[in-house]
Amino acid sequence: MIRKNESKKTSIWWIRRDLRIEDNQALAAAVEAGETVIPLFIIDPQIVDSPRMGEHRLAFLWAGLRDLRRSIRERGGDLLVREGDPLQVLTDVVRSTGASRIYAEEDYTPYARKRDSAIREQLPLELTPGLTIAHPDQISKNDGGPYQVYSYFMRKWKGRFLGGEYGDLLEGPGRIPWDGDLKGDPIPEDPGLPEGIPFRPGEKGAREKLQAFRAGELPAIHAYEEGRDRPDREGTSKLSPYLHFGMVSIRRLVSAAEDAMRQAPDQESRAGVETWLEELIWRDFYISILYHFPHVLEGNFRESYDPLIWRNDPEEFADWKQGKTGYPLVDAGMRQLLDLGWMHNRVRMVVGSFLVKDLLVDWRWGENWFMERLIDADLAANNGGWQWVAGTGTDASPYFRIFNPVSQSEKHDPHGDYIRRYLPELEAVPDEYIHEPWKMPEDVQAESGCRIGGDYPEPVVDHGKARERTLKAYREAREKSEEGTGQ
Ligand SMILES: Cc1cc2nc3c(=O)[nH]c(=O)nc-3n(C[C@H](O)[C@H](O)[C@H](O)COP(=O)(O)OP(=O)(O)OC[C@H]3O[C@@H](n4cnc5c(N)ncnc54)[C@H](O)[C@@H]3O)c2cc1C
Repeated sequence: MIRKNESKKTSIWWIRRDLRIEDNQALAAAVEAGETVIPLFIIDPQIVDSPRMGEHRLAFLWAGLRDLRRSIRERGGDLLVREGDPLQVLTDVVRSTGASRIYAEEDYTPYARKRDSAIREQLPLELTPGLTIAHPDQISKNDGGPYQVYSYFMRKWKGRFLGGEYGDLLEGPGRIPWDGDLKGDPIPEDPGLPEGIPFRPGEKGAREKLQAFRAGELPAIHAYEEGRDRPDREGTSKLSPYLHFGMVSIRRLVSAAEDAMRQAPDQESRAGVETWLEELIWRDFYISILYHFPHVLEGNFRESYDPLIWRNDPEEFADWKQGKTGYPLVDAGMRQLLDLGWMHNRVRMVVGSFLVKDLLVDWRWGENWFMERLIDADLAANNGGWQWVAGTGTDASPYFRIFNPVSQSEKHDPHGDYIRRYLPELEAVPDEYIHEPWKMPEDVQAESGCRIGGDYPEPVVDHGKARERTLKAYREAREKSEEGTGQ
C-alpha cells in the first residue's frame, strides 16, 4: 500500500524514456513541487508486448530500470512499478496517494502524444522538455512550416542553440523524498543480455561510453570524421541505446561536443566533432519529421514512390536476416545485429541498400526487422534511416544511387577485420578474396577451409543485374506516379 499523506504535497515523476537522475527536467520539477515524490514506471502492455519490441531491447530496459531503482534508493526514495493501462494506473496512484501533480518528459511519437493528451484531459500531467534539444515546433521555416530538408534544419538549429542556448545542465537531486510504503509490481525477471554485448545498461554505462569516446591521445570524438566510416574500429560513440532510453541527456552530449570543439587541437579534429554534433541533430530532425508527418510510419515520405512494385521474395529476405546473402559485408552486419543487437551506421546503410535495392524487398520489412532486433531501435531514427536508403524519405539518397556491396566493403573494411569478426567461416580466407569470396579458386577454398556454396553461400544475386532491375522498377514507379498527377 502507498500511504496517503494528506498533510504533505506529493508529486509523481512518471518515468518513460528518461531513465536517468542527472539533467532530468521532469524529476527536477517533481522534486521542486513535492515534499514527497513518487518515481513511477508503468509497464504498458501496448509497448512491451508489441511484436516489434525485441528481447534484447527489453532486457536492456529492465536492467536499466534496476540500475535507476538503485540510484533512487541511494537518494532515500524508491521506484514504484505498476503494470497496466497508463491512464488507469495513474488514476489509481493519484487517488491512493493524493498526488497533486504528475511530471513527465514529453515524447513526440504518435502513440505518446495521443496517450498524453488523453491523460491530460483527466489528470494534472505536466510535460517537460528533455528528449530533444529542439521541440519539433521550435525549428521551422520562415513560413512557419516544418523543414523537410536536413541541412536547412541543421543550420537553423545551430544558430538557435549553440553556445549553451539549450539551458544549464541540472545536477541530479541529492535526495528524492519519499515517506510511503511502496507496493508495486516487480521489474520483470529475464535471462538478461547475452554475453559480449558491449552495452552496460544504465546511467553509469552511458557515462563510461562518453568518457571512452573522449579519452586517449587522439580521442575518437576528434577522429570522428574518418573513424565514423570504419566498422573495423571503435570510431563512433555507441551511445544510441542510452539516448533511446534517456540514460544520458541529449543536453549532456551537445555540451560535451561544444567542450570537445573548444579543446580540438586542429581544424580536422574540430571538423570531426562538428560532424558528430550533426549526427545528434539528425536525431532531432527525424523526431521532428515523425511529429509533423506521422504518415511515414506506414508509408513513403515521398508518395511518388507508392506505385513501386517490390519483389518481396521471402527466401531472400530470410537469407538477409540470417546473414547468408554471400556478400561478406552485408552478412557481417546482419550477424552483428543478431549477436549484439547493434550495428555500425555505415553497415546499416549497406545492408539496408542491399535489401531494398539489390533484393527489391519493401523497406518496411527491413524497418520491422531492425525494430525487433536493435537495442537502440527508435521509431523516428529507424524510419528515417530506412526511408533514406530506400530513396523515399526526406533527404533521400537519389533512387539511382545504389551502394555496391563489394566496393563499400573494400573501402570501409579494407583488411576484412570486421567481416572476420562476425563471419568465422571466412577467418582463413586470404585478404585478396575477403570482399568477393566467390572468386576464390578451388585450391584456395580448400586451403582456407571455406567452400563456397557449402561453408559460405554463393551470392544470392548478381549485384550488376540487380542494380539494373531496381533502376527500372524505380523509373517505372516515378512514371506511373507522374501519369497519375498529370505531370
Ligand atoms: C537503416 C538505418 C536504421 C537506423 N536505425 C536506427 C535506430 O533504430 N535507432 C538509432 O538510434 N539510430 C538508427 N540509425 C542511425 C545510426 O545508424 C545510429 O544512430 C548509429 O549507428 C548509432 O551508433 P552510435 O551511437 O555509435 O552513433 P554516433 O555516430 O556516435 O552518433 C551519436 C548519436 O547520434 C544519433 N545519430 C547518429 N546517426 C543518426 C542518424 N542517421 N539518424 C538519427 N540519429 C542519428 C544517435 O543517437 C547516435 O547515438 C539507423 C540508420 C540506418 C541507416
